[in-house]
Amino acid sequence: MKAAAIDGRSVAARVRERVRAAVAERVRAGLPRPGLATVLVGDDPASAIYVRRKQEACAEVGIAAFDHRLPADAGEERVAATLDALNADARVHGVLLQLPLPDGLDAAALIDRIDPAKDVDGLTTVSQGRLVTGRPGLRPCTPRGVIELLDAYGVDLTGAEAVVVGRSELVGRPLAQLLLERNATVTVCHSRTRELARVTARADVLCVAAGVPRLIGADYVKPGAVVIDVGIHRLPEGLVGDVDFDAVAARARLVTPVPGGVGPMTVAMLLDNTLRAAEAATAKAAP
Ligand code: NAP
Repeated sequence: MKAAAIDGRSVAARVRERVRAAVAERVRAGLPRPGLATVLVGDDPASAIYVRRKQEACAEVGIAAFDHRLPADAGEERVAATLDALNADARVHGVLLQLPLPDGLDAAALIDRIDPAKDVDGLTTVSQGRLVTGRPGLRPCTPRGVIELLDAYGVDLTGAEAVVVGRSELVGRPLAQLLLERNATVTVCHSRTRELARVTARADVLCVAAGVPRLIGADYVKPGAVVIDVGIHRLPEGLVGDVDFDAVAARARLVTPVPGGVGPMTVAMLLDNTLRAAEAATAKAAP
């Protein structure tokens, strides 16, 4: 069997188009244009590139983008004051604090400063609690992107054996929750898991977010499985994921490439979360 590659670029393009149309419709109806504020502290070049991409993506779909930059030595109070001002700004529906923060800043405390109604990264303690308890709320972008890809390819999650490799707050844990919400039978693996290949080989749907280049080879995969690779690594030979694509493609039914798989979904879901936050604000303001 030779797996089909999941085309994340085209699924992400469809999500962006859906958001663009919904934003245009809102504006036509006289409702506020959705707005996303990014907060970048310090001058990490990779973070600056990510922020620029998010700003550009907003512009493409008609979301108003607000760009806030603070020096690396801004200090916790100044960052907190910036977040407070954005929480209070009615033009802003989503607030994104770009991570990682410079040393000396308490990332967890600052993330929790964001109003959960504007937490488009889904990382505040309140948003995480809502996810775990199954209450409505904003969900983290990359895990949402994975579910969107699985849906786009018609992968039935109900009752499916799903294995997630990785338990980070950003990816593994929330992804496991979203799979559970969709009635998959979920196993979460991590660096202390014994006989990883034996566990992953049970999966109908295998999602890998371990941050280890080409960790998952053919032996880790059940024939006919769907394999989602969240990992991304810049190696001398180019970009690679946590999955050995060529080896796994010989065994799986569907597999995401790197690049062009999960990567494009993250920003697309950020736009979608910003739209959702704006819609929720409108619904709350309605008499
Ligand atoms: P992370 O915070 O480093 O977490 C990695 C997780 O994998 C940890 O839970 C760790 O276990 C587990 N792990 C590490 N080595 C393992 C092994 N040999 N076997 C089994 N489990 C192992 O990473 P992350 O933020 O979740 O990101 C994971 C990858 O996704 C990275 O390559 C990152 O660049 C990429 N990423 C991509 C996107 C995107 O948009 N495409 C977004 C976010 C992240 P312990 O908990 O026991 O340490």
